[in-house]
Amino acid sequence: MNEHPGLGEWVAGKKFMVVEDVDTSRMLVSGLLRSLGASSVVTAVNGEDALEKIEKKGVPDIIICDWVMPGMDGLALLGVVKQLHDHVRFVMLTAQTDAEHVRQAAYLKVDGYVAKPFSRQTLVECLGKLMQKG
Ligand SMILES: [Mg+2]
Repeated sequence: MNEHPGLGEWVAGKKFMVVEDVDTSRMLVSGLLRSLGASSVVTAVNGEDALEKIEKKGVPDIIICDWVMPGMDGLALLGVVKQLHDHVRFVMLTAQTDAEHVRQAAYLKVDGYVAKPFSRQTLVECLGKLMQKG
């Protein structure tokens, strides 16, 4: 936290969505966000669920999304979200960091990566970068 003064306050003012099919991983990410100061965290289990929740509960500021999920996966959701809501920051949570995957996600304007297995520190680094981008 020390490397990013003001991060807690910034996180507290943002609406988050965590999209991840694995229960334990989804709870871990949302728990970490809350521990960093987030008060608004909506969760979804895949792309379709995420789009439904966006319609019902409003557009989040930041989506942290798993890549591999049954049904609509993270890459497909990234494409749809950026088309509908260009301002949403989209972070891919993934073990898929080979060049081709990174290229595909970059083409669809991904805003960040958190590599799996992730830690509190990698999430802090990623959010710190988003905060600096404004
Ligand atoms: Mg998955």
